[in-house]
Order: sequence, then structure tokens, then C-alpha cells
Amino acid sequence: MGVSSRLKSRFQKFLQRPGTTVDLAPLQKRLPAVEALEEELKELDDAALTERAGEASEIVEICAIGREAARRGLDQRPYDEQILGVMALLSGKVAEMATGEGKTLTAAIAAYGHVRQGRGPVHVLTVNDYLAARDADWMRPVLTLLGLTVDSVTEASTPEERRAAYGCDVTYVSVSEAGFDYLRDQLVVDIADRVQRELSTAIVDEADSILIDEARVPMVLAGTVPGEQDPVHAAAALVKGLKRNRDYEIAEDGRSVAFTTEGTEKIEKKLDGIDLYADENFDQLSALNVALHAHALLHRDIDYIVRNGAVELVDESRGRVAQRRRWPDGLQAAVEAKEGLSATSEGEVLQTITVQSFIALYRTVCGMTATAVLVGDQLREFFKLEVAVIPPHKPNIREDLPDRIFATRQEKEDALVVEIGKAHEEGRPVLIGTRDVKESETLAAALEAKGISCVVLNAKNDAEEAAIIAEAGKRGAVTVSTQMAGRGVDIRLGGSDEADHDEVAELGGLYMIGTGRFDSGRIDDQLRGRAGRQGDPGTSVFYGSLEDDLIVRNAGDMIPPSPHMDMDGVVTDERVDYAVGHAQRVAEGVGHEIHRNTWRYNVVIEQQRVALSERRERLLTTDVAADMLRSKFPEETAEIDDEVLSKVSRSIALYHLDRLWAEHLSYLSEVREGVHLRALGKLDPLDEFHRAAVPAFGKIMPEIEDRTVDTFAEIDEVTDTWEPAQANLVRPSATWTYLVHDNPFGSELDRLIAAVGRRLVTGRK
Ligand code: ADP
Ligand code: MG
Repeated sequence: MGVSSRLKSRFQKFLQRPGTTVDLAPLQKRLPAVEALEEELKELDDAALTERAGEASEIVEICAIGREAARRGLDQRPYDEQILGVMALLSGKVAEMATGEGKTLTAAIAAYGHVRQGRGPVHVLTVNDYLAARDADWMRPVLTLLGLTVDSVTEASTPEERRAAYGCDVTYVSVSEAGFDYLRDQLVVDIADRVQRELSTAIVDEADSILIDEARVPMVLAGTVPGEQDPVHAAAALVKGLKRNRDYEIAEDGRSVAFTTEGTEKIEKKLDGIDLYADENFDQLSALNVALHAHALLHRDIDYIVRNGAVELVDESRGRVAQRRRWPDGLQAAVEAKEGLSATSEGEVLQTITVQSFIALYRTVCGMTATAVLVGDQLREFFKLEVAVIPPHKPNIREDLPDRIFATRQEKEDALVVEIGKAHEEGRPVLIGTRDVKESETLAAALEAKGISCVVLNAKNDAEEAAIIAEAGKRGAVTVSTQMAGRGVDIRLGGSDEADHDEVAELGGLYMIGTGRFDSGRIDDQLRGRAGRQGDPGTSVFYGSLEDDLIVRNAGDMIPPSPHMDMDGVVTDERVDYAVGHAQRVAEGVGHEIHRNTWRYNVVIEQQRVALSERRERLLTTDVAADMLRSKFPEETAEIDDEVLSKVSRSIALYHLDRLWAEHLSYLSEVREGVHLRALGKLDPLDEFHRAAVPAFGKIMPEIEDRTVDTFAEIDEVTDTWEPAQANLVRPSATWTYLVHDNPFGSELDRLIAAVGRRLVTGRK
């Protein structure tokens, strides 16, 4: 057993860190048994294999049958490492497997295993629609041989298509689409309108990205509020011509801005000399402040792009377009107005859930990613998930060079262009990872100026990007890309057909250059992982400058006044290396703390949401509402047909429940803004929040009953066709979904405090 003992010694060498990651030995012990079934399974014809697949229930058989189905369906025999990954996923772990190791196939076999072990249906949660559709199609031959049905859901799917896809054994869907469907299902008045079945098992792809980076993101189902008016365009017009340092000043950290006296006066004059700081003009001042933030601090092509007449946010931490996201607190509408677009309404929040709480609804959660160990603590803290580190199929021989740090940004850029030019001349493919869209464009322009043509990926379209990045390993290719563009796509040496694979390997493989460290070392690692896949040669290096935001913001005071440099202007100072690491640790720590803090608030809201949703489920699926009305109105109800009474009382009660919940959500967000103010008076904001949230929720249940009784009492005649609208109980005419993006400047309240503070300082009345 040469192969297995060779593997054994490699596994032992590989990252055995007891306590932090799962011990692979017990999983590894089963590999020979999986292999032992191989010959026997090969003998079966397809139909017999499918039949056998439907009978399997224990791990070894599941793995062996899964392997055989992959061999037939894709002509790829899963490696032992992938089989280990399957076992890790089946035991509810996060499997860390490097880029290109074949996590898609691993997850498909694990999905089969979960179904066979009675944990279906399985949702494979992806980071975007493109990957959901691609992976469902890609894995269909394997899953079909295994006797399972499979489909995907994307934003474009109709309700019928969604219901059919969720009716399959395995459904590929982006986490946001799955979450939005869940929210919509929470508001149906007839169970037949639901599209999802129970949430049983989630296999989360790019698990760190979804479970950690996106965890706090609220998914929102909103509805139109009739008669909402919009002062944002007026405000946008008023701030339009204002100039920095004359009409307004930007704080050093670039995160807040305030009108100067001159600026305020200018606006007041345009408004016929009103006093903006008078109480009655509070709303106007508030709108102007938001407009000023949009005008002065949010930059097109860095913070957002404008596409198809809409503002689309660029996710700061990844430099990619975050689809269907909105900034909160009116900021979104302010930016739309600034760009001359018609401002879209935030609407009233009807139902909301964070990504983290949504994932927690699944009975079983597991996942895979190339970078899990670095967030192992957080996965344990927030999801009780352990990480299993699966070794690569072939040892990684990528060369990770030390950072090259320059004094200024300009020197960095010059050096980058020279380095890229050198590699390009040899024909070696270069992939440059930038921090934002603007940086991509500046660098591309500098390269073009030197006659180096390159492709720029701007994270604007997942499908197009996938096609481009798949060719980033071609001989002579220069690809400039923001961090997450084209993620999940395999970069093969020599191009997607691997035509010049050996030649490119000879040149050293893919050369990955980062234009600056990211806020998290994990993101750096994801970029590095683009090179050197499946044992290919490759190189990675990060360029940096002492002017980079990360360093200035988090470790500015640690940079020595005249650091050591070599002849080429590269900083070779240990103190600077330390400062870079420190800056990342600070940024990561802040991220973790914010996550923990938001989570503490969210726990209460989530408990209330769950309690109310149980109540709602009972109203929806039983006759409790009708029974309640029967006890209050014995005579009137006796005259009504049972089925009609059931339907009418249910729809009245559900209407009131949904309404009260929407009102409660809006109250909670007000309270949450307010408690920070009160925190200035030294009360613990979280305690304060609880003190307000708990009794308010306590009133909802009796209130549902009271309002239901009142409504019923007012109905003249109960008929089969009665609708709540007849009693003026109007459900929102249109609903839509979005993800709430962090307000980059803190809450509206913070901004007002800043504005008021400024007014005190400048001595204005
Ligand atoms: P990951 O998600 O781990 O980065 P993918 O699932 O995208 O990797 O797979 C990377 C590439 O490896 C794909 O082109 C896939 O076809 C190939 N691959 C996966 N498993 C095998 C296998 N067992 N044998 C050969 N090729 C494989
Ligand atoms: Mg993948």
C-alpha cells in the first residue's frame, strides 16, 4: 500500500494542531475501505450503480459510490483528499481545501451523503448566482447517477421555478437568494405560496466569506409605504456646487464632513434665509448632512459604480460590486440623487434576518473554503463549527516572496509597472490583485502607457469575469483584478485549455502580485492561492507603501521617521514589517469586535423573530384564530361556514401580526440609534436596548388578538371572498429585497452630533 502510507506520513506532517483543527486520522483510516469497494462498483452498470446509491447509508459506501459516480459522470476520479473533504463535510465541519483542489465535486458528493443519511434536502450556498447555476449544471451528471434531483435558483427564477428547484434533493443557490426566499415565505398567507421546504442542511461554499465577512449583513424584505415623500433631490441640488475647505471640511480620517459657516450661509440664502439649525428645520438639516456625505465622501468608481441607471455599491473590503445592496439611513437615495438618478425608496422593512441568523436556521451546517483556519475562533464562537484542514493533493510549491514596501504610493506604482513589464516580456502570466476599482484603472493606464496591454476586471459582471479570469494563466496574459473578481473560477496554466501548460510552468507559472495588503491576512492568502494551484509552480508577492491606507489608519505612529531602504528604494526595516502585521491585526480585531457587538444586539431581535414566527406558523396552519373569534363572538361565528371563518380569521390575524412586527422592527432600529446617545450618560447601551425591546415585544401577542377582534367586530358580512383590504387592512402593493450595507460613516445620529458639535465650536446660534 505504497500510496496510502505515503499519504499517511504527509497527513501527519500537515498541520496537526490539536485543539484548533480536527484530527484527520479517524477519517483517513477509512480511505482503504473506500478504495476496496472500487473494483466491485466499477462492475455495475449505470442503473445498478444508481440503485446501489439509493441504498447506501454509511460513510465508506457513500464515499465509494460518490467516487464512482464522479468517475463516470465527469471522468474525474476524486482524490483521497477530496474523499477526506467529503467525510469532513458529512461530520458537519468546515473543510479547508486550497484553491483548485476540487471543492465543488467534494461538496456534491457530500450533498449526496447528507441526503442518504436523512439530512436532506441540501442547499449548497454559493456567493453568487453565476456560481449557483454553474455548479448545479456541472454536478448534475454526478448527482443524477446518484439518483438525486438537482437544480439552481437565481435572481431571475420565477416563483414556480424556485419551488421546483427547492423541491429537489440538492439545490444550488446564493446565500442571499435563499435568505430572500426564506423572508418571503415568512409572509405568505397561504402555505401553498411557499417556495422553500424546511431548512435542513446547508453546505456553505467560500465559508469564511459567507459565515464571517457577510455574517452581519441584514437581508431585508421591504414594502412600499404609500405617500412617502423624498426631500433628497432638493438636498442634492443644494450641496452640488459646494467646495471643500471653503463650504465644508473633511475630517482627517476621511469619514466625516461638516459644513463651514460659509457653506451653511450659502445654503440658508438659497432657502430664503431660513435658520437651518432651528428646531423646525431639523429634517432639512438632516437631509442636507446626508447629501453632503454623499457629495464629499462617496466617490464614483471607488465606493460605487453607476450601471444601468442604478447605483451599485462597491464592497470596500473586496473591491467588488455588491449586488442589490443599499446603504442605510437615506445615504443610498442621496447618492442616487447626486448622480441625477431617481432616488429609490428604502421602503418599510417588513421582515429581516442577518446572514448569520439565517444560516443558524439550518439543522446541519458545514462548508468549505481555502482560508478557514485563520477564522477558526470565530467559526467556533458564532457557529460552533470546527475546521478540518485537508492537505493538498499535490504539495504546494508556490513561492511566497517577502513584501516590497516603498516610501510613497508613486514609487510603488512605478516599481509595479517595471516588475510586471519584466515578467510579461518573458511571457509569464501575471495576475495583479488590487484593492479597488479605481486602483485597477490607474494601474491599467500606467501599464498601457508602457505598451503593456492588460485586461481589467472590475467586478461588474460575474459571468463575464469568469470567462476572463479563466484565461489569466495564458502565456503573456496580464490581468488586473480587484480582489474577489472571478472567484470560484479555476485558473489553469496555459489558459483554460491548458494549451501551453508546460511552457508556462517552465516560466515559473502564474505570478500573483498584490498592490497592497488587505485588512485581513486571510484575504491576502486568498489572492496568493490564485497562483500555484494543484502543485503548479507559481509566485506571489505583495507591494506596499508607507502611504497605504491600511498602514496610515492602523499603524501610522509605528512607522519610523527614516526607515532603512535599499538601493532600489525598497524599505528593508523590521519595524515597518512589524507595523504592517500590526496594522492588519488591528483591522482584523476591529472587524471581530464589530461582529461580536452587532451580534449581541441581534440575539434579542432574533429570539423575538423566532418566537413570533412560531406564533405565525400556528396561525397559518391551524384554526387558532377562528377558535379565538368563536369564543369571543359565539353567535355571529355560528352563522358562518367553518371554512370561510377559518380563512377570514386567519388572514385578519396574520395581517395584524405582520403589521405589528414591521412596526416593532422600526421601533427597534430607533431605539438602537437612541441608546448610543444615552450611552453617553454612562448606561450600558445593550442593557438599555433590552429594557426597551423586551416589554415592547411582550405587547405584540395580546395586541394581535385585540386588533383581530376589533377588525372582526367591524365587518358587516363575512363571505368567502372577503379580503382584509375591505377593512382598510392593506398589505404593501409591492415588495422588494436588498442587503443592508454598513453605513460607512456611522449612524445618522453620529453625523448630527458632529454637525451640532461643529456649530457650537463655530459659535453660530
Ligand atoms: P476549488 O473550488 O477547490 O477551487 P474547483 O471545484 O473549482 O476547485 O475545481 C478546480 C478544478 O479541478 C476543476 O477544473 C475541476 O474540474 C478539477 N478537478 C476537481 N476534482 C478533480 C479530480 N478528482 N480529478 C481531476 N480534476 C479535478
Ligand atoms: Mg470553488
